[in-house]
Amino acid sequence: MDALNEVAANIRAVSATLPDGVRLVAVSKFHPAEYIREAYDAGQRVFGESREQELAKKVAELPDDIEWHFIGHLQSNKVKYIAPYIHMIEAVDSLKLLREINRQAAIHGRVINVLLELHIAQEATKYGLTPDDCMALLEGGEWREMHNVHISGLMMMASNTDDTQQIRSEFERGAQLFDTIKERYFAADDTFCERSWGMSHDYRIAIECRSTMVRIGTAIFGPRVY
Ligand SMILES: *Cc1c(COP(=O)(O)O)cnc(C)c1O
Repeated sequence: MDALNEVAANIRAVSATLPDGVRLVAVSKFHPAEYIREAYDAGQRVFGESREQELAKKVAELPDDIEWHFIGHLQSNKVKYIAPYIHMIEAVDSLKLLREINRQAAIHGRVINVLLELHIAQEATKYGLTPDDCMALLEGGEWREMHNVHISGLMMMASNTDDTQQIRSEFERGAQLFDTIKERYFAADDTFCERSWGMSHDYRIAIECRSTMVRIGTAIFGPRVY
């Protein structure tokens, strides 16, 4: 069976495994717009993309009520292209990037939701803030004056390994850090609430470690062709 025909069934199957309070970001990067349309017709509205040009093309072709999340590494000089429409930028890994998102969002009269990306894994990515850097960014306080970004929570990837105990301990570290940050900086803000962790191979573990948002590509759309 062709992968396209399985998209709707996969959306339903994955959605059925998610408990209340966990949202699905369908990661559609490298898949054509018709795949997204299939998922959309099955009721999915939140999609994740990681390349600005690919995203712009899809936005132009697809319905307006899709909530687009930018999940990849974002260079500051690319923010201007997605600022008019992006719903959430999930992988903010520097103060410089945060400033630029705020600046571009202000130009468009918007408030853009962001997540701070943690680097906890051994090797999954070279991007992200170490726990110390993340705390230092928040302690610096400049973000409090950025009225066009809203920090909604944290995002992370676990190591790409078969060692489920290691994956679990990394997600648990993320969850603990979330609690610390929540208490210290966002105690009065109910909208600092997102823990974006879990991909196709590890989302069940992520949910056990209090994920609120899973980013799933392969299990919905099949293998990516790069
Ligand atoms: C590609 C990607 C995903 C989805 O990965 P799958 O293994 O296909 O589910 C999730 N998060 C990020 C940051 C990604 O780049």
